[in-house]
Amino acid sequence: MADMIEQIANLMRLTQNAVVVTGAGISTEAGIPDFRGDKGIYRQLGEDRVMRIINIDFFKAHPDQFYSFYRQYFKFPEVEPSPAHKILARLEEQGMIKGVVTQNIDNLHQQAGSRNVIAVHGNAEEFICMNSHCQKIYDHEYFADNTETVPHCSACGAVIKPNVVLFGENINNYIGARQLILDARLLIVIGSSLTVYPLAGFVNEFCTLAKDLVIINKGPTQLDYAARYKLDVGVGSTGEILEEIYRKLQR
Ligand code: NAD
Repeated sequence: MADMIEQIANLMRLTQNAVVVTGAGISTEAGIPDFRGDKGIYRQLGEDRVMRIINIDFFKAHPDQFYSFYRQYFKFPEVEPSPAHKILARLEEQGMIKGVVTQNIDNLHQQAGSRNVIAVHGNAEEFICMNSHCQKIYDHEYFADNTETVPHCSACGAVIKPNVVLFGENINNYIGARQLILDARLLIVIGSSLTVYPLAGFVNEFCTLAKDLVIINKGPTQLDYAARYKLDVGVGSTGEILEEIYRKLQR
């Protein structure tokens, strides 16, 4: 492990062009469970059921059922960014990484101070008016204070939706996310099983370009075979691994 950490730090120093891709696993150390882990809703309720409900067609047809599910299962605990989020922000500030493409909707990279963040699945802190001529954005307080089963826009009266990408919707900034990943010389994937598309597809495409892929994850991912270095977090933490890389880079 120590050897690999040294090699990864060397690669980052050499290339000066690393991009980071993150999934739910980077936020478990901040206190937000992933979907597939022991406490995750895929395990508790079954992946098919969850995917059927957090779907744009279901939302449009049954907004009341959607919101009762959402209120029950999608309330993220109020947490602070983890050490891993904070180190990524510092590495960006020092020019060691160019940006972060994340599947997470918890806003923790932005809170930690990362600037170039592409949140392809949106931001659960926000809600958006479904009327395409309005699209007013609301913060979480507006939703929390709202007593309606299905909250509505105060400007035009249309239904508002969590500003996250539901199944059946296009991801945010598809072109920008793909480009940032493909332009990287070194791609570091943290806390993603690389099963969710299209982001996993961008990482796959990156691998065809004969550049360096590093994966830091608890357990296997779909692209372990393509990684130059795969670090299994095991009983340790991603925060500790990134801290170690950071320390080596400061020498
Ligand atoms: P995933 O659930 O497919 O993969 C998460 C991976 O992280 C798993 O392989 C898990 O073993 C690993 N992991 C767990 N703890 C870790 C740790 N401390 N360090 C390193 N790895 C760890 O997640 P995904 O690929 O991101 O896709 C799930 C979908 O769920 C995404 O679309 C995402 O939007 C959404 N989601 C987001 C959040 C969030 O915003 N925090 C939380 C849950 C789910």
